[in-house]
Amino acid sequence: METKKKDIRALTKEQLRNFFVEQGDKAFRGNQVYEWLWQKSAHSFHAMTNVSKETRQMLEDHFVINHIRVDQMQRSSDGTIKNAVRLHDGLVVESVLIPTATRTTACVSSQVGCSLDCRFCATARMKRMRNLNADEIYDQVVAIDNESRLYHDRPLSNIVFMGMGEPLMNYNNVLKAIEMITSPEGLGMSPKRITVSTSGVPKMIRKMADEEVKFGLAVSLHSAIDEVRTSIMPFNANFPLKDLREALEYWYSKTKNRITYEYVVWKGINDTQEAVDALVKFCKFAPSKVNLIEYNPIDDDEFQQASDAAVAMYQNTLERNGITVTVRRSRGKDIDAACGQLANKQ
Ligand code: SF4
Repeated sequence: METKKKDIRALTKEQLRNFFVEQGDKAFRGNQVYEWLWQKSAHSFHAMTNVSKETRQMLEDHFVINHIRVDQMQRSSDGTIKNAVRLHDGLVVESVLIPTATRTTACVSSQVGCSLDCRFCATARMKRMRNLNADEIYDQVVAIDNESRLYHDRPLSNIVFMGMGEPLMNYNNVLKAIEMITSPEGLGMSPKRITVSTSGVPKMIRKMADEEVKFGLAVSLHSAIDEVRTSIMPFNANFPLKDLREALEYWYSKTKNRITYEYVVWKGINDTQEAVDALVKFCKFAPSKVNLIEYNPIDDDEFQQASDAAVAMYQNTLERNGITVTVRRSRGKDIDAACGQLANKQ
């Protein structure tokens, strides 16, 4: 009977060192291989040129390296790049590179599909198939970093977990990936340049606070009124705003980090003074920043971008209340790479 080989990148460095000792070799061989797997992103054992031929064969007999493959790369007229990324089992996720004058940001996926059901989101229409492994998340970042260097002459500067999936529903793998992205044994990026964007899972926000993570937190809020939020993000019925707010207060008490809120203003849904007043009340407890994001319709009539006047009303009210606000024009619309549009549509 054929035994399935294990993905070698599921092993920690310590486990890899132990594996070599069990094979009668030296533990430091584990360090060498680990460096090839992460820092040098080797796609095959064959590439590990400072490892003997016999050892490479032995690794081949025991393990596989489940690398992602960029199946299709689309480039937008505004410089945005979208990758369709094929995983070892044939499933596909998407990741995006967003260049601006001062930054190149990778927007990466954490799940195939999504466990949540936001009604305005294209990803929600795919059912959640599985969580991504840490190495699959890491590989998306490496692929985008390479593209950033190639097409924009600069390395990746920021990462947001805002692609397909709810990152806090794949907590362990997302944290493991961030550990490798920030480790000198991986990409060595500063955690301050990483933002995990969640739709708001209170229990996991508390867990992150307890673990004193160093990366930033963004919450896709879209409404600070329970009935409205539940109507557009039905899981809000299980994680109501009161619980979310308490978890965020806890996060702030532990980290003292400013909280970012992602917010789309839709016509007829949350474009009222009452809605913006509720938002001010919700986020005033800690230093906050609100990103007002332009909406990209996903071929239905229900959700439409609100008028410029409504967005201006939000902007003015938030600023008057001392809350930092930015209006984000969407990027990569012509290739369906904008926020909420990722759904493996090629
Ligand atoms: S907006 Fe985010 S959390 Fe909501 S369904 Fe889409 S991918 Fe999932």
